[in-house]
Amino acid sequence: MKSYFRPEIDAIAGYVPGEQPKMADLVKLNTNENPYPPSPKVAEVLKNFDIARLRRYPDPTADALRDLLAADLGLKRENLIAGNGSDDLLTMVFRAFTAPDRPVAVFEPSYSLYPVLAAMQGAPVYRIALEGKDFSYPADAVRQAKDANLLILTRPNAPTGNCVPRETARRYCEEFDGIVLIDEAYADFAADHCADFAGEFPNVLVMRTFSKSSSMAGVRLGYAFGHPALITGLMKLKDSYNLDTLSQEVAKANYADKSHRADCVAKIIAERERLIRELLLRRFTVVPSQANFVFAVPPDGDGAGCFAHLREHAVVVRYFPGKVTGHGVRITVGTPAENDRLLEVLTRKYPC
Ligand SMILES: *Cc1c(COP(=O)(O)O)cnc(C)c1O
Repeated sequence: MKSYFRPEIDAIAGYVPGEQPKMADLVKLNTNENPYPPSPKVAEVLKNFDIARLRRYPDPTADALRDLLAADLGLKRENLIAGNGSDDLLTMVFRAFTAPDRPVAVFEPSYSLYPVLAAMQGAPVYRIALEGKDFSYPADAVRQAKDANLLILTRPNAPTGNCVPRETARRYCEEFDGIVLIDEAYADFAADHCADFAGEFPNVLVMRTFSKSSSMAGVRLGYAFGHPALITGLMKLKDSYNLDTLSQEVAKANYADKSHRADCVAKIIAERERLIRELLLRRFTVVPSQANFVFAVPPDGDGAGCFAHLREHAVVVRYFPGKVTGHGVRITVGTPAENDRLLEVLTRKYPC
């Protein structure tokens, strides 16, 4: 049959999300979700929610939620846009800033959704290789980004977990003649962040999500902040009602409970450090991580074999095939009990 699709669409393989397997007694460490539930305040909101409100459309611009998030960052509502997950915002950003004559520059490896969104736009992708075993950032990245209109910096990076130093990130923002999107999905697990760049540079957008540190991947909520001119432009591209009423309500309640989030993050960071120590004992090579996951290379350098061994024992991690990442696996930090199961299964193949 003849294809009715645009050639760009026919050429795309499509983004493959981490699997959500249905095995019994599964230890799920493959999509960087938070192993702890959101704030108990969320249960209260749901219990007291007046269902009659559902007959009305939601607030199209999520003003109350944007006020809450912006105030916390020392910004105004006009500086911030909310999305149906940060993936929704990424779609807007690619539609806004990329086209066949407006390339995008991404680091390799980083989030595998970026090139898929570029392909939908028919936009060329420049891949800037991270260097060495620790995936460090090249000094000449902006030169490698050539005439790109958008440069995406994932900080901390996925799937490697390391952070480009703040001063290097600042230099990229100063030197790059286009939009720099700093994807801070994992910033709450890191020693520092670049949120202040959004107020400092007119060409910088910083993006965050409720999916990781806020335990709400199922709700779908992300936000981006920057110069009001950038936000106004992105607003033109969003679906009219991109956030449903329930999401806005539970997100506000969850965000306000800062001590709950801080407790979860502290537990995850402590477990991350334990996990790294234990992996080193099993002769893995581990990239120092500032996120809620670690990129770990088994002693035999066979990421696929490690993934398969774990999966056979109902522990699911993420494996990214290919030359750049195929030697390792990405392991989400779980609860202490989940991490113990992971380590116990690993010990059978990689003894201490
Ligand atoms: C998880 C993740 C996102 C997507 O988050 P959602 O808000 O769930 O869409 C964006 N960027 C990176 C780097 C991520 O790892």
